[in-house]
Amino acid sequence: MHITEIPVEGYERVAAVRDERSGLHAIIAVHNTTLGPALGGLRMWPYDSEADALFDVQRLARGMTFKSAIAQTGLGGGKSVIIGSPEQKTEALYLAMGRFIDSFGGRYIVAEDVNTTIADLQVVRRETAHVTGLSKTDGFSGNPSPYTAKGCVLGIEACLERAFGDPSLDGRKIAIQGVGAVGSAMARELVEGGAEVWAADLRPQSVETLADEIGIHPATEEQILTMDCDVFAPCALGGIVNDATISGLRCKVIAGCANNQLLDRRNGEELRARGILYAPDYVINAGGIINIGCELLPGGYDEQVSLEKIRRIPDALCDIFRISDERDISTAEAAFLLAQEILVAGKPAPTVPRESPAS
Ligand code: NAD
Repeated sequence: MHITEIPVEGYERVAAVRDERSGLHAIIAVHNTTLGPALGGLRMWPYDSEADALFDVQRLARGMTFKSAIAQTGLGGGKSVIIGSPEQKTEALYLAMGRFIDSFGGRYIVAEDVNTTIADLQVVRRETAHVTGLSKTDGFSGNPSPYTAKGCVLGIEACLERAFGDPSLDGRKIAIQGVGAVGSAMARELVEGGAEVWAADLRPQSVETLADEIGIHPATEEQILTMDCDVFAPCALGGIVNDATISGLRCKVIAGCANNQLLDRRNGEELRARGILYAPDYVINAGGIINIGCELLPGGYDEQVSLEKIRRIPDALCDIFRISDERDISTAEAAFLLAQEILVAGKPAPTVPRESPAS
């Protein structure tokens, strides 16, 4: 296993690994551990180059720092990526990844992300204790997606209150891009609350299932991005709010679970100029990390503690709306400033060390 350090300004440690025996080619980025160990998911993706993977992992790790700071999880920000397509998954690959994670000595703690499942993390766990998000039956916090969805729906209600003076979902028109693990759970809660939901997904079957089961309206991606609606909820991949899409948007609010929704932070200013309220992604989608972070609290995981913390997501959004008003800046900028202030104050919450792996 050959580890190469990659000096990146503003990041505590970024390193790439190549392991000939397993074929592992991966990067771990630890952005900031002021508030605690860096926790973030492991993504497997067929990046075209190491440079593309490095770009992605840096952005994601930085987002985790801000997400955990505002959600007060007592954690720092980090992320990891395996360069490769999910069809190339092997046990040897994830064991090697486990050894790479272990070489960070607990400064980076892994969780699930795109194309990495609980089963994959169970393999990683054989090589390192620094793993979270395993099954509830084993005393871990389980799949974070329902908790992310819960926080997003509460966040949408806070945005509706701000935009319309009424948090009720009843009769609201909501357009969702991507009904995967989080988007589909959100769709169910939104419909239950009385909203009318449109959705598009690269996998049409996911939309059709929801149409049959809860009566959402199937839509094309173009429709989702341009329809006259109360809320546009980006729940697929990042960068969907950009120079090309902003001019077509006819929503009043953007609030969804996807990470890195704005291609550039300045897009937040453009949204503000167009009168669109943007719920900063790393604030509204913190439910999953909040739930995972509860594994590390003294006493271990307790769902009630997690749900109580998730119910504070609307308060965090309201803080950001207030800062945006007071300083006459976009909500994206306000969230960034709030995260910086929390990092400067730097008060870590107590966490307990992980036990060594069983094998
Ligand atoms: P997922 O893979 O289960 O779902 C994503 C869905 O988006 C898939 O159904 C996919 O087909 C669809 N999709 C991809 N590109 C699309 C496009 N261009 N148009 C329409 N649909 C498209 O992932 P998930 O766990 O639901 O996460 C969704 C987003 O939320 C990701 O950006 C993820 O990083 C972010 N997020 C997830 C969590 C979590 O707890 N799972 C937490 C925080 C943030």
